[in-house]
Amino acid sequence: MTGLIHVAYIISALLFILSLAGLSKQETAKLGCTSGIIGMAIALAATLISVNTPWGWAIIVVAVIIGAGIGLYLAKKVEMTQMPELVAMLHSFVGLAAVLVGFNSFLSLGGSGSAEVSAVALTGKELFIHLVEVFLGVFIGAVTFTGSIVAYGKLNGSFKLAIFKSKALVLPGKNILNVLALVVSFALMIVFLSTTSFSVQLCVCLIPMTIIAFLFGIHLVASIGGADMPVVISMLNSYSGWAAAAAGFMLDNDLLIVTGSLVGSSGAILSYIMCKAMNRSFISVILGGFGNKAEAASAEEEQGEIRELKCSDVADMLKNANSVVITPGYGMAVAQAQYPVAELTKKLRDKGVNVRFGIHPVAGRLPGHMNVLLAEAKVPYDIVLEMDEINDDFSDTDVVLVIGANDTVNPAALENPNSPIAGMPVLEVWNAKNVIVFKRSMNVGYSGVQNPLFFKENSYMCFGDAKKSVEEIVSNL
Ligand code: NDP
Repeated sequence: MTGLIHVAYIISALLFILSLAGLSKQETAKLGCTSGIIGMAIALAATLISVNTPWGWAIIVVAVIIGAGIGLYLAKKVEMTQMPELVAMLHSFVGLAAVLVGFNSFLSLGGSGSAEVSAVALTGKELFIHLVEVFLGVFIGAVTFTGSIVAYGKLNGSFKLAIFKSKALVLPGKNILNVLALVVSFALMIVFLSTTSFSVQLCVCLIPMTIIAFLFGIHLVASIGGADMPVVISMLNSYSGWAAAAAGFMLDNDLLIVTGSLVGSSGAILSYIMCKAMNRSFISVILGGFGNKAEAASAEEEQGEIRELKCSDVADMLKNANSVVITPGYGMAVAQAQYPVAELTKKLRDKGVNVRFGIHPVAGRLPGHMNVLLAEAKVPYDIVLEMDEINDDFSDTDVVLVIGANDTVNPAALENPNSPIAGMPVLEVWNAKNVIVFKRSMNVGYSGVQNPLFFKENSYMCFGDAKKSVEEIVSNL
């Protein structure tokens, strides 16, 4: 039976790797999802087979039914715009699970000086390694748990507490606080591993370290400003993977170790790619914005006159255009404007206009958010270009339609060294002949920074809900 379970775990692990490979391209994403689902089904079946008590069976079946019920309900209810919050919340569950597994693993020692893992009593070096796994697993899990809850609050945006604001929380001596939390936790780990007293290990080391790690997680993510949130989300994704891997070590479960490591390493790679794309220091972001300059308060700054256009005027402008670039942002997701945008694209292309899309790596609230929406509305993949592929073409573009994007088209990132988004590469839409910005008001974007683009001479504002505005333009064409 053990052999069969191992084979099932290896097949699941391979399917998870195929799933990741599939998810890296739009064309193969569905196949990637299917591989992941089959892999998880095999893993669940193998786990059920490995349990040999009726009680164990009953608990797992009830847990799966409850979990699957909640999952199904959420999948049906959650709006696409709430997905990032949901993902952050799910990361927090993984973190909490690692904390609970760690405590359970440790408590099973029960002061006897040896741990029962997979029905094998651990002593000597094996016990030492197991205790390291417990300590690190609980630490990573606790940081992931509270960090993800703060990320949830920051993405949700409706909580009043300062830690949940998109603006970075700057506590006095914030870097010293972070270093202190790490040093004290390390010192507690040394004591934890060197004493044989169960009560000292539990009450002096494990519980205080867990509290410190909870606070560390809160502080780490609260100190990150809105513009760096994409990296934080993928970092938490990575942490949740490492937490799951740590739980795998504690439970002696190979599949959990492999799966956790896959999530951990792919999350870390994604974070690195995003840091590079956004010109951010990877180390600075994972250390809670270490060394960041204080953010300039620029949200309310007036920067000149704006020019407004009606939808019918936009339609006239488009009728005379040869080349059009559409740069969507989070507002397109909020308005669910991807369908009329796809229709507009089709109409313009039918008239011979060269229409392309420019996608910023952090547009929206999830990596690939805009690509998913455009694919959903059946916009052809070959006209959807990455920022680097389109940025040099704006000077040859007649009209740029900025649909619900703000931070990702903000020239302050390149022009104002004191801006919180300074240094972040952006879509240089202002180089086009005409730029039309679709939004409802003069509100700032997620990073809370005013956008000088709106006041440039070749920029026009088309106020209103993006879906309604684009529908009106389509009917005017
Ligand atoms: P922004 O969040 O900067 O701006 C979105 C704009 O959409 C707002 O200015 C808003 O203006 C407008 N808007 C909202 N609803 C509507 C509507 N119904 N119709 C028309 N317009 C609307 O979006 P970007 O995509 O440019 O930038 C993404 C930001 O999110 C970046 O700061 C990024 O760092 C951050 N982020 C990204 C993540 C990712 O992984 N992609 C994850 C976490 C954060 P108004 O209210 O006036 O309508």
